[in-house]
Amino acid sequence: MNFHILTLFPEMVEQGLHTSIIGRAVEKGLLSIEAVNIRDYTLDKHKKVDDYPYGGGAGMVMQAQPVYDAWKSVVDRIGYKPRTIYLTPQGPTFTQPMAKEYAKEEDLILLCGHYEGIDERVLEEIVTDYVSIGDYVLTGGELAAMVLTDAISRMVPGVLSNQESGSTESFEGNLLEYPQYSRPEEWNGKKVPAILLSGDHAKVDAWRREQSILRTIERRPDLMERAELTAKEKKKYGV
Ligand code: SAM
Repeated sequence: MNFHILTLFPEMVEQGLHTSIIGRAVEKGLLSIEAVNIRDYTLDKHKKVDDYPYGGGAGMVMQAQPVYDAWKSVVDRIGYKPRTIYLTPQGPTFTQPMAKEYAKEEDLILLCGHYEGIDERVLEEIVTDYVSIGDYVLTGGELAAMVLTDAISRMVPGVLSNQESGSTESFEGNLLEYPQYSRPEEWNGKKVPAILLSGDHAKVDAWRREQSILRTIERRPDLMERAELTAKEKKKYGV
């Protein structure tokens, strides 16, 4: 899968996305992540990419031309118009199901705004999806693009060494993951739950399922409305 990140700060995304699991997947050729510098496409002789907003108001607005030409350079190179996501506080909030859906794409363009945002006319022209990473305002779209790239990449087959770990994590079936423990068996006077040492896989699975449900009820009751529970579980936990 290929990510094309349109940004005024390419070094920010390049530095942040070439380590650990994502970095290894890039080395293996499972992913490619390129940062396209929008400033390289401005026709302004002073390399300017922003201007004052019509109608007045604070801040500067990124102009349509350099954004469009940066986007077009990717489209011309890959030979088709891929889904183009504008990172914006004005979109629906990014979720794990969205990460899975986007992971099916061959190419994704992620457009990062800065300053007060981007001229609406170019957004109308090129954007297919508006996505936010939460109800707060960031300085620019780069951190948001990195969040999407990381979460989507993990859903690309082969990126996680053990596909299991992608399918049993939080938000599968709208439940949070059960608590995890590792060596030693006792730390700071706290013991690992005995059932995890029992070697009885059926019992371990049942315990983990119960912990998932209890943890979701306690920490994210909002998820419970859409949690995938059996009729028996619904009755047991009163949901
Ligand atoms: N004036 C815009 C508004 O009120 O909707 C906010 C502009 S913000 C200062 C600059 C850029 O940061 C945006 O164009 C967007 O790309 C990015 N950004 C800010 N908050 C974001 C969020 N919660 N999710 C995704 N991108 C965000």
